[in-house]
Amino acid sequence: MPTFHSFRLEAVILRHSDLGEADRLLVLFSAQRGKLRAIAKGVRKIPSRKAGHLEPLTRVILLLAEGRELPLVTQAETLEAYLPLRNDLEKLGQASYVIELIDRFLPEDQLPQPQLYALLTQTLERIACACDAWAALRFFDLRLLDGLGFRPRLFECVGCGAALRPQDQYFSFPAGGALCPKCGQEASGATPLSLNALKYLRYFQRASWEQVAAVQPSPAARREVEAFLHGYWSYLLERELNAPRILRQIQPGP
Ligand SMILES: [Zn+2]
Repeated sequence: MPTFHSFRLEAVILRHSDLGEADRLLVLFSAQRGKLRAIAKGVRKIPSRKAGHLEPLTRVILLLAEGRELPLVTQAETLEAYLPLRNDLEKLGQASYVIELIDRFLPEDQLPQPQLYALLTQTLERIACACDAWAALRFFDLRLLDGLGFRPRLFECVGCGAALRPQDQYFSFPAGGALCPKCGQEASGATPLSLNALKYLRYFQRASWEQVAAVQPSPAARREVEAFLHGYWSYLLERELNAPRILRQIQPGP
């Protein structure tokens, strides 16, 4: 029976690192406590029954005991190992992108994150299945931007306030929204955004997953939307993400 200092948690393991001789530091994302760190003692000694359940990219149920500084893992059970992600380099790269964004943007603040946790696990499942992984990633991008308070403004110009007309526009990363051609040409560093890409972004922002999964953008539209979102994430992080660069190396060219 757990003591009152123990708690159960469902989480996805984002990453781990070695700690001392035999222990492992885990970084987890959970519905109940958002992102948190925990220590798994002795898991690098062989044999350890816990070790197999504590690999990155695994959805687990953990029993944790409050430690002096960080919680200690006392029991671990795998719910989902996402095997298709491990056996396919491209899927692994796509999953790493999702994990990296969650890891980089979410603070360790102990706040419940049920919606972002559901988004994370659903996105990993969509990448693992035969779904359109590109659509799954873009749906994830736009929902995560919403969840973090960075929802792009795509209907009015953030410069002059005018409703955007059906033509190619610009986007301002610092202002977090689209700029009309006049404001975009005057703003230094505004990113061009084609009408076609803007339409997809608007649709992905408001449509359900089933609707997003059903659209079939051209390769050129996919590249533009993806490059735009990677650019926005990189601006928000003030440094380039690792995963898109790795994905570019893995994915075959157009
Ligand atoms: Zn304007």
